[in-house]
Amino acid sequence: MQELHTLWGKILKKVEYQVSSISYDLWVKTMEPLSFEQPNILVLACQNDIAKKQVERLHGDLLSTVVVDLFGEGASIKFLTPDEKRIYLEKNQGQSVAEERMNGNSKFNPKYTFDNFVVGKSNEYVYAAALAVSENPGKRFNPLFIYSGVGLGKTHLLNAIGNSIAQKQPKLKIVYATSEKFINDYVYALKHNSTKDNSVFEFRDKYRNIDVLMIDDIQLLSGKNGTQEEFFHTFNDLYESGKQIILSSDRPPKEIATLEERLRSRFARGLMQDMQLPDYETRVAILQKKADLEHYKIHQSVIELLAQKSQTNIREMEGLLEKVYFFSTLRSKSEATMEEALAALNEKEDRREGLTADKIIDTVCKYFGVEKQDLTGKKKSKDIVEPRMIAVYLIYDILGLPLVNIGMIMGGRDHTTIMHARDKISEQAKESSKIISFLSSIRSMLDELPEE
Ligand code: ADP
Ligand code: MG
Repeated sequence: MQELHTLWGKILKKVEYQVSSISYDLWVKTMEPLSFEQPNILVLACQNDIAKKQVERLHGDLLSTVVVDLFGEGASIKFLTPDEKRIYLEKNQGQSVAEERMNGNSKFNPKYTFDNFVVGKSNEYVYAAALAVSENPGKRFNPLFIYSGVGLGKTHLLNAIGNSIAQKQPKLKIVYATSEKFINDYVYALKHNSTKDNSVFEFRDKYRNIDVLMIDDIQLLSGKNGTQEEFFHTFNDLYESGKQIILSSDRPPKEIATLEERLRSRFARGLMQDMQLPDYETRVAILQKKADLEHYKIHQSVIELLAQKSQTNIREMEGLLEKVYFFSTLRSKSEATMEEALAALNEKEDRREGLTADKIIDTVCKYFGVEKQDLTGKKKSKDIVEPRMIAVYLIYDILGLPLVNIGMIMGGRDHTTIMHARDKISEQAKESSKIISFLSSIRSMLDELPEE
């Protein structure tokens, strides 16, 4: 262990003067080295999710270069969030969470409970429905379909239901999976199926031989026909035997492109409930709860500032809170002040680097489940025109390209057409909650794109 820390000390020395001192204090120095064993991979745990994002984005390249310098070609670095660290440590103590998942219940995030969920006007119905389902799974509201914009608490609620059932009825089998996990598991099962290895059977056993199934971000099944078919049968199987199904999505079923009609009508059998953007008071309460939970000392005025600044995405708002908190802990031991908050929020993020019009177009297509050639083509149906205008708006807003260039990129359109699209979305971005949620979902997908 000592060795590992000496080694980490060497790396720190090398990077210290190559990055800004704020960045160094906030993101680099705060990492904890976990191991340097698996052939030449230095594993570093970051203090929180945003720290990982920032350090990867801002200093990933530099740190990799330093490690290669010190330990030779082939040496590399891996950054972990606190959740990943937990999984990593468990794995290295011989018990893998992933395996545990395969043969039984999912693990739920212990912080995502009903108690830690702040109820306001925007989410009171969903909260009530989730609570009811957790008390009597399979009996009321089946399926429960929750939808809202990104970062408004869907995953939190699903975990809260899971935590609560696991506590009250520990015998029940609960499986939680994101759509992506469901798709991957299914594709894997198909690929490895044989008479000897009946992986499709295993897949079905895993998803059907249970009491509660939760699929998070079901909109990502859009366009995956084979998996939709399998999901349809999974759904019917569970539904007919009175098992609880809970689904989340970032939009209502009727707006999920290329979702089979029969699935849509299945979803409509139960309760469909949306969450709206939380109002100011609710946002303040959420921040307070989070600060209490994490024992952050933060002045009330700072909480109010953050609640004003961030209106459409709670995850982002919490990110700001963490940023301010870590910034302030470096300076003093007392509570975070307004002055520190403003300084922390001012640190420039150069994330736009590496983003191109093509990547924006691809992401928009992925989000809406449309083809690129349609997006940049001549089709005039609404399900194409709206995504097209949104792509234009985002390219303009993020990259600031001249309208003429955007016109060329978008399949040779006139710059006045581009201007019209941009202005229309920019108007709607002020009042239409649908457009606001589209834009914020796509922006967060863009934020999560790997940097090359
Ligand atoms: P979604 O799945 O809708 O994208 P998440 O459930 O991941 O959103 O929520 C993002 C973050 O915001 C989480 O840290 C979650 O705990 C927090 N959050 C969202 N809504 C609330 C709420 N009403 N009360 C407390 N925390 C919330
Ligand atoms: Mg989620």
